[in-house]
Amino acid sequence: MDQKKKTVFMTGVTGTMGTSALENIIPHLDKINLKLLVRDSSKNRSFISKYDKKYNIEIIWGDLLDYESVLSGVKNSDYIFHIGGMVSPYCDTKPYLTLKTNVTAVENITKAIINENKENDIKLIYIGSVAQTGDRCYPRHWGRTGDPIKISIYDHYALSKVLAESHIVESGIKNWVSLRLSGIIFPNILKSATAITFHVPINGVLEWCTVEDSGRLISQIIVEDLKGNLNDNFWGRFFNVGSGKNYRLSNYEFESLTFKCLGMPDLERVFEPNWFALRNFHGHFYYDGDKLEEILHFRENLPIEDYFKRLGSQVSYYLKLGGYIPSFLVAPATKMYMKRIAYTKDLGTLDWIYYNNKERISAYFGNIDEYNKIPSTWDKFELLKLDKENEAGKNFLCDHGYDESKNECDLDINDMKKAALFRGGECLSDNMNKGDLVTKLLWKCGYCKKNFEASPKLILKGGYWCPFCYIPVKQWDYDNIAKTNPFFNQVWEFNHKKDECNVYKFDEVFCKDGVKWDDLY
Ligand SMILES: [Zn+2]
Repeated sequence: MDQKKKTVFMTGVTGTMGTSALENIIPHLDKINLKLLVRDSSKNRSFISKYDKKYNIEIIWGDLLDYESVLSGVKNSDYIFHIGGMVSPYCDTKPYLTLKTNVTAVENITKAIINENKENDIKLIYIGSVAQTGDRCYPRHWGRTGDPIKISIYDHYALSKVLAESHIVESGIKNWVSLRLSGIIFPNILKSATAITFHVPINGVLEWCTVEDSGRLISQIIVEDLKGNLNDNFWGRFFNVGSGKNYRLSNYEFESLTFKCLGMPDLERVFEPNWFALRNFHGHFYYDGDKLEEILHFRENLPIEDYFKRLGSQVSYYLKLGGYIPSFLVAPATKMYMKRIAYTKDLGTLDWIYYNNKERISAYFGNIDEYNKIPSTWDKFELLKLDKENEAGKNFLCDHGYDESKNECDLDINDMKKAALFRGGECLSDNMNKGDLVTKLLWKCGYCKKNFEASPKLILKGGYWCPFCYIPVKQWDYDNIAKTNPFFNQVWEFNHKKDECNVYKFDEVFCKDGVKWDDLY
C-alpha cells in the first residue's frame, strides 16, 4: 500500500450497487489504495478474480459479522464505504437474520473506528434507504430528509436500515454521511415478477436511481473530497439519493415502461387493478434530491425513455439466458402466469384475500370492504397523473415542527422544546449550546411516556423519535402513535381511518405456527 495515498475500505462490492461503485472507483486507483471486504465463496472468488489480478486491490476474505475482519478493513483507512448487508430478495423471508446482519455490521464498523481512535478523522459513508420513510402515496408523495421515519409493516429490511443509521449518527463518529438510496434500476430488476410486485400500490411513486448513477455517486465522493469540496455541507448529514426529475415515476408508469422494454403485451391485458395493494409500501419524489447532485455531480440525466431503451438492449441478452418471463407468450398466458404469482402462498395479495388473512389485509388495504371497492377492470380504475416539477412538490411537504428558516447555528433549546411538542412529547433538557445538534438531549415520549436520549440531529434532521415505541423494534403501534403525535400523523392519517387500531407484534408477524420465517422459507 502506498503510504502517501488515501486508503478506501469498501464492503458490499459483489452486490448491484457495490459492483457499479467498484467499476467507477477503479479509474481512480492512481489516487487511492483500495481494500475490499468480501465473503468467501466460490462465486465471490470468481467475481473478484476479474479485478484483483489486474489492479492493486487488497482483498479481506471475511464477514461483516466477524469483528476481526471488519477491523482489518478499518485499520489505516481514511474512507469507509459501507454498501454491504442483506438486501432484497434474499432478505425478504429472513427477518431475524436481516436485522442481525445489518445492525451488527454497523456496530462492528463503529466499534473498530472508535477502538482505533479514528472517530474524528475517518469518513464513514452509509447507504440508507427510501424504505426508511415508508408509504408516501398521494397526497404525501413528496418528501425530504427530516420527514418522519415510518417503517412499513412487515418491512424488517427498513427496520434494519433505520437501526443501523441511527447507531452511526449517535456513535460519536464525526464525519459520517447517510445516503438514503431510492429503488435502483438495473437490468436484472426487470427479469421476473415476484409476490412483492403486487405489494406495490399502482398509484404509488418512486424517484428511481439508476445503477450507473449509484456507482458514480460513490466515486464522486472520493473525487470531490480529495479536491477539498466536501465539508460540513456534506459530512454529518442525511441525503436522499435519486436520479432526478426524469426518474420520478408512478408505479403504473414504471410497470408500463418495463413491459414495453421487454416487448410484453400492454400491462392492462396482463394485470388486474385489484391484484395490487393500496398502501404500506414505500417511495416518494425527492423534493430535496437535487441537493446531493449540486455537491457531487453524479447523475447521467438521460431521459427515462432513452434509459429504458438502453436497458432493453441489455435485457434481451438476459432473456436469452432463460428462466424469466417469456416475452413470446400471448397476453392470456402471461396473465395466468402473473395471477399465479399474485396467489403465492402467504406472500401474494390474492392469497391473503382468498384465505381472509386479516392481518395482511388490514396492513395493505385497511379492511376487506376497502379491498372490495377496488375495481377489477382498468376502465373503472382511477390512475393518478402527478406533477413532477419541484415547484409542485412544495404544496405537499411535511411540517418538521420547528423554524426551518433559522440558520442551523441559531437553533436553541426553545426550538427543541417546540419540535418535541409537535411530536406529542417534551424536551426535558433545559440547556443546549446554541447550534450544537450533536450533543444528546433528554426527551420524553408522549405515547409510551418513556424518557430517552437523542441528538437534535437525529430528531430534527433524521426524522427519528422514541426508540421504545416509535421505532417498531417490538411492534408496529402506528395507529395509536399517530393519535398522539402530530408530526407522525402527517404521514399516517392521509390513508388510515381514525377507527383503525391495529397493533402488529414483530414476533407474531414473522412466525407461522410457532416457526420463525427464517426457518420456514
Ligand atoms: Zn415511546
